Amino acid sequence: MVISDSEFGEVLVRKNALCRNIKFSISTSGRLQMSVPKYTSEFLAKRFLNTNREMIREKLPVKDPEGQRARDYQKKILMKKARLELPYRLEYFAKLYGYEYSKCRLSHANTRWGSCSSNRTISLNIGLMKVPQALRDYVIIHELAHLNHMDHSKAFWYEVGLHDKNYKIHEKKLKQFSPGL
Ligand SMILES: [Zn+2]
Repeated sequence: MVISDSEFGEVLVRKNALCRNIKFSISTSGRLQMSVPKYTSEFLAKRFLNTNREMIREKLPVKDPEGQRARDYQKKILMKKARLELPYRLEYFAKLYGYEYSKCRLSHANTRWGSCSSNRTISLNIGLMKVPQALRDYVIIHELAHLNHMDHSKAFWYEVGLHDKNYKIHEKKLKQFSPGL
């Protein structure tokens, strides 16, 4: 569970069966996190956060809370944009080139633009909304081609090239961007 807090940004809430009391700590990325007993509701977690605000401010400095909030906000905007475009763009190319995938997932991993799993789920990074359309389309075509080739073999690249003549340029240009926020 993640709580969006106006002061601390996103607060990670970890449910733990062995945990008897609510505990606050700072995650490795510098975010505030709470460990709570397994059946704690969001309402209760928020209330606990509110009553401990003063103590958290003093004892647990959240790393760059303004930066965290800015990134959380950017993520929200990108997610909104991505929802309106990526699943439809994927569907469009799949129909156009005769691919069948099972599901489209939107991700916000820091390291990859997209992935295709063996159960034919295609994941697309919401960070794609920050790159030019041609590169976005290239990533979609790349992941669709993985439905037929789960590797980066010659046959895979040949198939990518059928649907995106400029794939080599696009692959190179994509390296100028980072999928993370
Ligand atoms: Zn690939």
